[in-house]
Amino acid sequence: MMELQVYSTVIIGSGPAGLTAALYAARAELKPVVIAGQNPGGQLMQTTEVENFPGFPEGILGPELMANMTKQVERFGAELKQENVVAADFSKQPLVVKTDKTEYRAKTVIIATGADANWLNLPSEQRLRGKGVSACATCDGFFFKGKDVIVAGGGDSAMEEANFLTKFAKTVTIVHRRPEFRASKIMLKRAQDNPKIKFVADATIVEVVGENSVSGVKVKYNQSGTEEVLSAQGLFVAIGHTPAAKIFAAAGVAVDQKGYITVSNHTHTNIDGVFVAGDVNDPRYRQAVTAAGMGCMAALDVEKYLAERE
Ligand SMILES: Cc1cc2nc3c(=O)[nH]c(=O)nc-3n(C[C@H](O)[C@H](O)[C@H](O)COP(=O)(O)OP(=O)(O)OC[C@H]3O[C@@H](n4cnc5c(N)ncnc54)[C@H](O)[C@@H]3O)c2cc1C
Repeated sequence: MMELQVYSTVIIGSGPAGLTAALYAARAELKPVVIAGQNPGGQLMQTTEVENFPGFPEGILGPELMANMTKQVERFGAELKQENVVAADFSKQPLVVKTDKTEYRAKTVIIATGADANWLNLPSEQRLRGKGVSACATCDGFFFKGKDVIVAGGGDSAMEEANFLTKFAKTVTIVHRRPEFRASKIMLKRAQDNPKIKFVADATIVEVVGENSVSGVKVKYNQSGTEEVLSAQGLFVAIGHTPAAKIFAAAGVAVDQKGYITVSNHTHTNIDGVFVAGDVNDPRYRQAVTAAGMGCMAALDVEKYLAERE
């Protein structure tokens, strides 16, 4: 069934960015609709302890934090839809957002669809996610004090994650499947100069070893074909992220060469009335609190945009 009503704002995504945008929009009486997507609550639903979201001195479980945010948003009347956006038409007003169930028309849209970490796609890696396998050193590095960890990757983010992890870990070994590193010279040198960081190049990770926690990482040396288990209690996969922006790029929203939605002015995209918040715009910080902050900014920008047109 088609929704003929024109909403003031439709928010796409129910992670920290989307829900914070909804909180501000609902309190501004914009009666937002939130399309929750196939992962209601977003990335934090995949984690256990979140220790760096302000206001929780003892930490809080990711799913509990997201349940609290959802409750808070609903208290102010935001409507959450368990639907997935499949297409958009931003060529004219009202903007159209198509889901797997219906179609919404809106004066403004906030895109807060997040980004997914790229994984090695090994069954053992997926089984041990959150049990020693992570894609976020800022989030989980603290849990590896005095431990040996492996970083998978060869680009700038692998070097950055490795350097960051040396604050906590006893040793950090960067495993890269190619003989040469893609990272910029300066980032590579910083890692090479760090006495805690070792390098294993031209080697492919073939298995993460461990039953209920990581005890090692099995690598295959590409030249000799021999395999070895490197002892480690953690594996940080740092081979990039994929922002959930393809649908919007197809509707004309500008993205950078890695597919992240770009902004022309704070949270405004290149399309009039279309705003963005959170990890789908942010390859740099990728934190719940920064995503929430951007959600707030997007909702305030929407409010101003609508006020200027009334
Ligand atoms: C395992 C793990 C642990 C982490 N730990 C921490 C931590 O301790 N501290 C911290 O600050 N950060 C942590 N992070 C990072 C943090 O979760 C993200 O930075 C944050 O969730 C980004 O928020 P977001 O709202 O931009 O996107 P997301 O949380 O990714 O939410 C995106 C939302 O968009 C929806 N969506 C996507 N596509 C569509 C579509 N087509 N239609 C409708 N909806 C759609 C999804 O369903 C989801 O609800 C962690 C991340 C992971 C993966």
